[in-house]
Amino acid sequence: MNQSRRSFLRSSATAGAWAGLFSGFGSAARAADPDPKSPQPEPQAGSSHKWGMGVDPGQNLPPEATNGPWRNLKAVKEKKVFDIHCHCFETPTQGHNYKEEGHMHEVDQWKDYTADLIAAMDRHGIAQAALSPAFVTYETVVEKSFKAYPDRFIRATGLPTESTKARSSGVLTQPGAEADISPTEMAAIFKKQLTQDGCKMIGEISGDAILRMLIPKYGIKALKPVVDVALEYNVPVQIHTGWTATGTAIGVGQGYTTAWRWAEAMGELMANYPDMKVRLGHTGGRLAAVDGWEAVRLLFSFDNAYCDTAKSTPEIVSEVVRGIGAERVLFGSDWNRPEMKTYGPYHMRNVYQHWYNLNTIAQADLTEVLTNPST
Ligand SMILES: [Zn+2]
Repeated sequence: MNQSRRSFLRSSATAGAWAGLFSGFGSAARAADPDPKSPQPEPQAGSSHKWGMGVDPGQNLPPEATNGPWRNLKAVKEKKVFDIHCHCFETPTQGHNYKEEGHMHEVDQWKDYTADLIAAMDRHGIAQAALSPAFVTYETVVEKSFKAYPDRFIRATGLPTESTKARSSGVLTQPGAEADISPTEMAAIFKKQLTQDGCKMIGEISGDAILRMLIPKYGIKALKPVVDVALEYNVPVQIHTGWTATGTAIGVGQGYTTAWRWAEAMGELMANYPDMKVRLGHTGGRLAAVDGWEAVRLLFSFDNAYCDTAKSTPEIVSEVVRGIGAERVLFGSDWNRPEMKTYGPYHMRNVYQHWYNLNTIAQADLTEVLTNPST
């Protein structure tokens, strides 16, 4: 059976083991912006004519933002896209290099971009998005985002919470900054969020805390209380993978790491807990070689490996769908602010935008893929 891009964008999110995530998809899709308008470009705060792709700070929209192949995707036109990877709190302004941006994050002031995210979803035909709390506390995102748009967001667990923030240090999404939380306490936090708030997945930052804080400190076997909660609620664990175009490579431990380190850590996790669904956020990210192919290697090695396409490339998306079927490959964007980034490699500052990630799907070779006959 052929796998069209349209059905990839739609059905990969609804099929198989993921069905529990997307109950209510249809009603929310209908509740979404009813009237298709022609896509508008993302608002580019502070953009000026002298800024362009390849020119610092690189904010002018490239042609593919407004006229890219994403506009022709049927799922976009029908407003039925599901985005499994979003965030909505970021710095009020951006720096123009890593040092400046690092300072912006250290200031620890965060702007709520929830309404901007909804507007970007509407412009790009996205019915619902899974939202992972980041930078601010989990409770803040519940109040400002989840409750504000109950039909548009699938809730994900998050850290820190109000009760753990005081024990965190530094920038909350940087390695080593997570609060010192025992596996038992973390399991209790997740259980509460899954029960009380209806979360449908262990979200990226809390998944990262498992990999970056719990395992190095307590060892892989000590994870069992956390894994038991994931299994009890049958929810996947989303963990960031790969190199990020807007900072040093985030892996395991402090500072710069090469691809094999995060890949081995993910492999160890999936090998030790084969019943827990693990989602490789970004499928290794924007650099196909080496990180993207390390993700492919993992996805082809473990039955419990899933991935999302946020910031990935057409080459990698084509390969993983070809190898494991669309059921385990989910569309994502990693959207976190309206503008493109103003730091990192010039030609990669667009990777968090919806149009970039939809163009990746439009450019992927998904027409000759055999899908699992049971779906
Ligand atoms: Zn993310």
